Amino acid sequence: MKLPAEIKDNIKDFAYITRRKLRDEDGEVKGEVFLWRKKGEEAFNYWLKCPYCGTEEESSVTLRRRPYRLKCSNCGKSILIEKLVPK
Ligand SMILES: [Zn+2]
Repeated sequence: MKLPAEIKDNIKDFAYITRRKLRDEDGEVKGEVFLWRKKGEEAFNYWLKCPYCGTEEESSVTLRRRPYRLKCSNCGKSILIEKLVPK
């Protein structure tokens, strides 16, 4: 997937942007998530490729507490957006 153009052009307008690889039950990287929130807005937008069923979707959600979780609308599994671990 590519970065939405509005983000590239206006990166300073965003309060939160993250992109993570997602693993299935066996630990294989099968999915990906891209999550972002604009300054002054409460809802997060996301693009998700579910690691469990492969469904791709784009939506928005209000996330209040960390760790953030998204739910796949197809298989219903909860997807954890893990904290980045320093290498
Ligand atoms: Zn799914």
